Amino acid sequence: MNQNVTRRLANMRGAPRCGAMTRAGGQCQCPAVHGRTRCRIHGGLSPGAPRGTGNGNFKDGFWTAEATEERKWVKRALERYAKGTDQ
Ligand SMILES: [Zn+2]
Repeated sequence: MNQNVTRRLANMRGAPRCGAMTRAGGQCQCPAVHGRTRCRIHGGLSPGAPRGTGNGNFKDGFWTAEATEERKWVKRALERYAKGTDQ
């Protein structure tokens, strides 16, 4: 029983941590919600804002998954080009 408790405490200690920025400037460090990168306080429980036009702040599609993926692709291509490894 005691070994079981020790192992479970070690698992809890090794859990992924929340990376949210605190007002003090550091990271939150609370255990993240299972399968997420944030703790229960910093949005780990929330599925996020409604997608597409269901969101009241949806204006021009700048932050859609396709648009952000395209910007990431351009950034990676530029980084490869800057290194000179794009042959
Ligand atoms: Zn947090």
